[in-house]
Amino acid sequence: MNREYDIVIIGAGPAGLAAAIYARRANKKTLVLEAKTFGGQIINTLDVENYPAEAKITGAELAKKMYDQAKNLGAEFEYEKATEIIDNGEKKLIRTEDDEEYEARAVIVATGTDYRKLGLEKELEFAGRGISYCATCDGALYKGETIAVAGGGNSALYEALYLSDIVKKLYLIHRREELRGDEILVNKLKEKGNVEFVLGANVTKLIGDDKLEKIEINGKKTLDVACLFVAIGREPKDTFTKITKDINGYIQAGEDCKTNIDGIFVAGDVRTKTTRQVVTAVSDGAVAATAAIKYLSGGYYATH
Ligand code: NAP
Repeated sequence: MNREYDIVIIGAGPAGLAAAIYARRANKKTLVLEAKTFGGQIINTLDVENYPAEAKITGAELAKKMYDQAKNLGAEFEYEKATEIIDNGEKKLIRTEDDEEYEARAVIVATGTDYRKLGLEKELEFAGRGISYCATCDGALYKGETIAVAGGGNSALYEALYLSDIVKKLYLIHRREELRGDEILVNKLKEKGNVEFVLGANVTKLIGDDKLEKIEINGKKTLDVACLFVAIGREPKDTFTKITKDINGYIQAGEDCKTNIDGIFVAGDVRTKTTRQVVTAVSDGAVAATAAIKYLSGGYYATH
């Protein structure tokens, strides 16, 4: 079946949900396509404390509020992964993994980012069996055990701080001699009695039969760990569009959220930008939807 919309938004994180709110308030027939569940990255964030007007709120609650607002305004949602956008000029065809097809006059790509992987053999096989990318999701499973965190940026430091209160011992493994994250976090970690810094160290092998048992460091020594939490940054989630990307794979677009293809806009973390936060994602959603609405009206639309 081929369903027609004014605007199809791909991704139901904060950027996509904000775009849906703006699109519906302009009375555009709007579909949000989401591969997993609405909310994006924030659903795994325990406390969000930097979203204006919400001094402290769980990521899941914040996501639900955004979703309810979009839904109550009339945005439609389908839980399908987009696999292709075919640009037929004034109409775009969006194909999904379930072999559905949707037609849109404008598309907003808001697919966000995914956890960067170490790229080791067995990494994906052990995911959920000793490899994790989310401390708040899986940390409690390793209470009283010995674990490791890989990475040297703020994500790794936050994950390590959270986990150090749960586990017996934690190795923080980083490939450089210097950690990249904030000094205040490094100092907090140093005060913990159960954290050992393993610097200048690469995880070179994941060892175990049906679950992770040991990790090999620099091709030499091994450490017995119940889990390795990988926190080495994120990478853009767009392997399905032909939109121009920057050198790191992020969709190239300026503050106007316009891509190189007429009628296709981008919003949120998947866009080239300097600050990836919920507020900047939401801001992109508003800008991209406003640009899409203007495009649909042939360029005439009040933006303020
Ligand atoms: P990041 O700052 O890019 O750090 C990624 C770390 O992983 C770096 O130390 C990097 O090593 C290492 N790394 C990358 N690829 C690797 C590989 N293949 N093998 C081993 N190590 C690898 O990413 P992030 O920590 O996720 O932070 C992303 C942004 O979000 C930052 O701006 C950060 O400040 C921000 N952030 C903010 C908060 C907060 O305020 N609540 C929390 C988390 C993150 P090198 O140092 O050698 O490159």
